[in-house]
Amino acid sequence: MPAALGFSTYVSISPLEPRRLRIFSENFNEEVEVDLDDNKLAARKHWSDYPVGVAVELERAGHRLRGAALRIRGEVPIGSGLSSSAAIEVATACALTAIAGLQIDRRELALLCQRAENEFVGARVGIMDQFVSLFGAAQKSLLLDCRSLEFRLLPLPDNVRLIICNTMVKHALASGAYNERRAQCEAGVKHLAQFLPHVTALRDVTLEQLEQFGQDLPEVVYRRCRHVIAENERVLLAGAALDEGELQRFGELMGESHRSLRDDYEVSSEELDVMVELAQRVEGVYGARMTGGGFGGCTVNLVVAEHADEFRARVAEGYEQATKIKPEIYVCNASNGAEEVSA
Ligand code: ADP
Ligand code: MG
Repeated sequence: MPAALGFSTYVSISPLEPRRLRIFSENFNEEVEVDLDDNKLAARKHWSDYPVGVAVELERAGHRLRGAALRIRGEVPIGSGLSSSAAIEVATACALTAIAGLQIDRRELALLCQRAENEFVGARVGIMDQFVSLFGAAQKSLLLDCRSLEFRLLPLPDNVRLIICNTMVKHALASGAYNERRAQCEAGVKHLAQFLPHVTALRDVTLEQLEQFGQDLPEVVYRRCRHVIAENERVLLAGAALDEGELQRFGELMGESHRSLRDDYEVSSEELDVMVELAQRVEGVYGARMTGGGFGGCTVNLVVAEHADEFRARVAEGYEQATKIKPEIYVCNASNGAEEVSA
């Protein structure tokens, strides 16, 4: 259940005559040029892999692009787990398709952006970030079924804020650990499918079934599976809580989610735990948890609007005292996904 934050990545675009893309990033102060007819385009561990990957996947799917100059300006903190990568992909995809006069269904566009990150960039990310970057809405969170891509927007009251706390720490093991978690979940699925043939992902398994058929799993794999299965249940409960306007209940579920991420999935970090514990002590806080891939990055906090300033001051001070690191804290609202804006 993501929400789109009020940070934007802007891509301005103008046509170029040859079928080339000239892409400038203000954040990296660098320009890259590629030929759309070059069929050997490949990732080179560079920021341009993201926009070029999007162009390549659009063309591979049969959408013919035209040459263009693109200028990118991103406000999403980069590499902090808030998905600046999905933001640049989605903004690029919207710009490239608009200037080529292509009408592509937004679900299809989300999938193409995910494919760019999976196939071209080479990161095995899911669909959630790209999806919410396209379908997010003001004062709503988005309950997404990642299998069917059906979704529902749920109301966040006007008087609450999403406050993002950036630990300013990123531990090096993050990407390796991410792939390891995926492999462990897949191992769990493979084992459970021997007893439950309909199981192709952990979402097809209940906690009772895990207890019944998972006893022979390695202890670590068992805990990874327990996290995912319980988290799926929590998300559904959290959706129901938002429908009912029960923010207290929603916040409790955020806390349970954090503990499960910390203890069973083991993707938290000392800094994230400190940030969550500090947040939970402030008045007006419904809930706090880590967000993103873990091992650093950010927490997300649901806070009564009138307590936002106090929250910011108290958590920043406590965090700096505990870690000697100055955090960044952003008071946000859930916002609209990608849209065309005029200069
Ligand atoms: P996250 O998505 O959590 O921010 P990732 O590592 O997935 O972190 O994606 C960050 C990468 O996306 C950057 O290293 C860069 O390559 C690319 N990127 C994001 N925003 C921009 C931007 N404004 N300009 C150029 N590249 C960007
Ligand atoms: Mg990313």
